[in-house]
Amino acid sequence: EKCVVAVDGPSGSGKSTVSRRLAAAIDGVYLDTGAMYRAVTWAVLQAGADLSDPEAIAKIALETELSIGTDPSAPHFAANGVPVDGPIRGPEVTAAVSAVAAVPAVRRQLVALQRAIIAGQPRIVVEGRDIASVVAPDADLKVYLTASAAARAARRSAEDATDVAATEASLVRRDKLDSSRAADPLRQASDALEVDTTGLGIDEVVAYLLKLLDS
Ligand code: C5P
Repeated sequence: EKCVVAVDGPSGSGKSTVSRRLAAAIDGVYLDTGAMYRAVTWAVLQAGADLSDPEAIAKIALETELSIGTDPSAPHFAANGVPVDGPIRGPEVTAAVSAVAAVPAVRRQLVALQRAIIAGQPRIVVEGRDIASVVAPDADLKVYLTASAAARAARRSAEDATDVAATEASLVRRDKLDSSRAADPLRQASDALEVDTTGLGIDEVVAYLLKLLDS
C-alpha cells in the first residue's frame, strides 16, 4: 500500500540522514527537495543571472533540465547533464539558494515536479521545508525535525569541516530568510509531529518513526 512520509525541518536538524535511513528501511525511495532548489541555484549562478531579478531566475529555472536521483543510498543529481552533487553543497550555492527559492515561479515549477515524482512512487520519504504544508499535505506521516542552532551547526561543520561559529551564523541567516520570504514562507504544518533531535542519535529517531508508521 502507498506510503508517503514528509520530513521537514531546518538544515542540520538531521532530516537528510534520517530521511535516507527511513527510506531504505521501508524499501522506498528518497526525494531531497532542498537539493532540487540547490541544483536550480547552481544553474542560475552558472548562467550569471542577477539574483535580484526574479524573472531572469524563473526563466533559467524553466530551462534547466534536472536529473533527480531518488536512491536513498546514492541520490545523485545533475543539471543540464552536469553532475552537481559537489557544487550544490558549496558555499556559493548555499549563500544564494534562499533567494532563488523565494521566487514564486521557481516554487511552482519545483512543487509540481515533486508532486509528480511522489505520485509515481509506492513508497517515498520526502524531505524539505514545505512538504507537509504544501507539497504533500496528505502524507501518511508528517514529521518536523528540530534541534538547537548550536547542535545543528555542530553537525553541519562535522560534515564539511567548516568553522562552527561561521556555520551557525550561516544557518541562522538562511532560516531567517526562508521563514520570512513573501511567497510561501517556511512554516511548520500544524498537524506535523515535532521531534527535537538535539540529544537523540540517528538510530533512535529512525526507530521512533518506523514505530509510528507501524501503528
Ligand atoms: O534542505 P537544504 O538546506 O538543502 O535546503 C536548501 C534551501 O532550499 C533552503 O534554505 C530553502 O531556501 C530551500 N528549500 C525550500 N523548500 C524546500 C526545500 C528547500 O525553499 N522544500
